[in-house]
Amino acid sequence: MERSRFELAESAIPTAWYNVQADLPEPLPPVIHPGTKEPIGPEDLAPLFPMELIKQEVSQDRYVDIPETVRDMYRLWRPTPLVRARRLEQALDTPAHLYYKYEGVSPVGSHKPNTAVPQAYYNREEGITHLTTETGAGQWGSAMAMACAFLDLECEVYMVRVSYDGKPYRRTMMESYGAQVTASPSSSTAAGKRVLEGDPDSPGSLGIAISEAVEAAVASDGKKKYCLGSVLNHVLMHQTVIGQEALAQFEQAGEYPDVVVGCTGGGSSFGGFVLPLLAAKISGERDTRFVAVEPAAAPSLTAGRYTYDFGDEAATTPLIRMHTLGHGFVPAPIHAGGLRYHGMAPIVSHLYELGLIEAVAVHQIPVFDAAQLFTRTEGIVPAPAPSHALRVAIDEALRCKESGESKVIAFNLCGHGHFDMKAYRSYLDGELVNYEHTEEKIAAALEGVPAI
Ligand SMILES: *Cc1c(COP(=O)(O)O)cnc(C)c1O
Repeated sequence: MERSRFELAESAIPTAWYNVQADLPEPLPPVIHPGTKEPIGPEDLAPLFPMELIKQEVSQDRYVDIPETVRDMYRLWRPTPLVRARRLEQALDTPAHLYYKYEGVSPVGSHKPNTAVPQAYYNREEGITHLTTETGAGQWGSAMAMACAFLDLECEVYMVRVSYDGKPYRRTMMESYGAQVTASPSSSTAAGKRVLEGDPDSPGSLGIAISEAVEAAVASDGKKKYCLGSVLNHVLMHQTVIGQEALAQFEQAGEYPDVVVGCTGGGSSFGGFVLPLLAAKISGERDTRFVAVEPAAAPSLTAGRYTYDFGDEAATTPLIRMHTLGHGFVPAPIHAGGLRYHGMAPIVSHLYELGLIEAVAVHQIPVFDAAQLFTRTEGIVPAPAPSHALRVAIDEALRCKESGESKVIAFNLCGHGHFDMKAYRSYLDGELVNYEHTEEKIAAALEGVPAI
């Protein structure tokens, strides 16, 4: 029997995170203060984040050691399996070899605890007792709620309205961990009230929920700090445990991927999987293709502009150079809530500009077609977000069938879809729609982007 699962021992959990900033051919553009238009300093971020995370954000060290306490907690779900999807390959009748790295084995069902645990840890080390955050699909909120339960911290979650209504069991899960959950936009912050005045039925967005969580931290006089589940450099760095493990697992399998695919909401699961493999591409050792897959309803890489913009809807964060649809862009209510974000991680945006990665946008109906095939062959009901990557991995495998090539294709299955039954219900009932993003909607939102 040929092997399908490539498992590592607990001792193979990485001991350090990989920081791609040490190897970038050109450095990242600085983050800018919206008032002075000058690069920000650590003191500008201090109201939001603990000093250790601010340091990690700009660190140029190739590796940053993982604290033992964090590594101990990682043992609850790491190392995660790398699986060869043989039954899917057979169904597609492709000569390609399809692999997935499965992050859905974590207690909350996604890759998010890889960064939630260290973020909570560093906050507690610096004496913080209360954290605020936002959540889209509920994966990040659940991860933060769990991390806060482990480290004995209070957790306040602003949950995007469409998810709050559509995924009530995610809320129950977060409250089971002890978190306090509020639907966003809410009337408990100025940012939320402003949106509700304009549109009392606003479905919410990650950009709006971030404004609320940031405001709650800033208004607390230092008592609360804020945590972000994606986008930032330190978040992508924490996620590199995924790609580092995958490298060891591919060695076991005696293969190396030709094409690596991941979905991109803010870019953390993509970055975590891809960055440790990208080092060999930057050095010229390997010619791997890296494909970022985004939803057609929020196509920041393929249809956005590479410019300085705010990370949140209310324009309160520092200015970040990234691919953006404009901070006022509210994406259509697709089921992949975690992909409904106007911007993209600066690292992922930069790599795209440098031509080191590709990007493609896909609609949700073909995405759910792919998810259903995966469910019926591999048995796992995937989360809607990584099903975007699955769609593109399958299309690549189908092209191999045409050409007769046996490429090695790997994708990051960064979460399961057990809380997404409402989405699968509408798919099965034939009620899903593909939202066309209008050029005008993007152009209008881009008008609100500050001129730098
Ligand atoms: C949060 C999340 C995403 C989107 O965020 P990224 O930072 O782009 O990874 C995608 N899939 C799952 C399962 C998530 O939990």
